[in-house]
Amino acid sequence: MFKKGSKLYSIFMGVCPKCHEESMFKNKNPYILSQALDMHEKCSNCGTKYKIEPSFFYGSMYVSYAVGIAFAVAAFIISFFIFKAGINAVFISIVLTLIIFMPIILRVSRNIWINFFMSYDKKLAKK
Ligand SMILES: [Zn+2]
Repeated sequence: MFKKGSKLYSIFMGVCPKCHEESMFKNKNPYILSQALDMHEKCSNCGTKYKIEPSFFYGSMYVSYAVGIAFAVAAFIISFFIFKAGINAVFISIVLTLIIFMPIILRVSRNIWINFFMSYDKKLAKK
């Protein structure tokens, strides 16, 4: 499922959606916050331009909303059902989860967004 060629691979690894050969992000570490959303203009392997049009990645905000909810639900389930936390602690753990994972949420949302529009093309991958 996470093998090269699947959309999940591109989404979780943040690699070029067409050739899956190289990271779209300049810095692999999303927690260097000043560079969290710095992306290469295009793929150095296959030449795909990531920003299909100006402000292309604004659309990923809708995705980040959904991804954020998924993280919030996970935090809720873990704190409420596994740690049996009270309602205040559950609330705090949800807020903390969203803050801590925000760089990852934003990146994954961009990866999901661009994968709506582009698909893996075997011919572009290195052998
Ligand atoms: Zn590429």
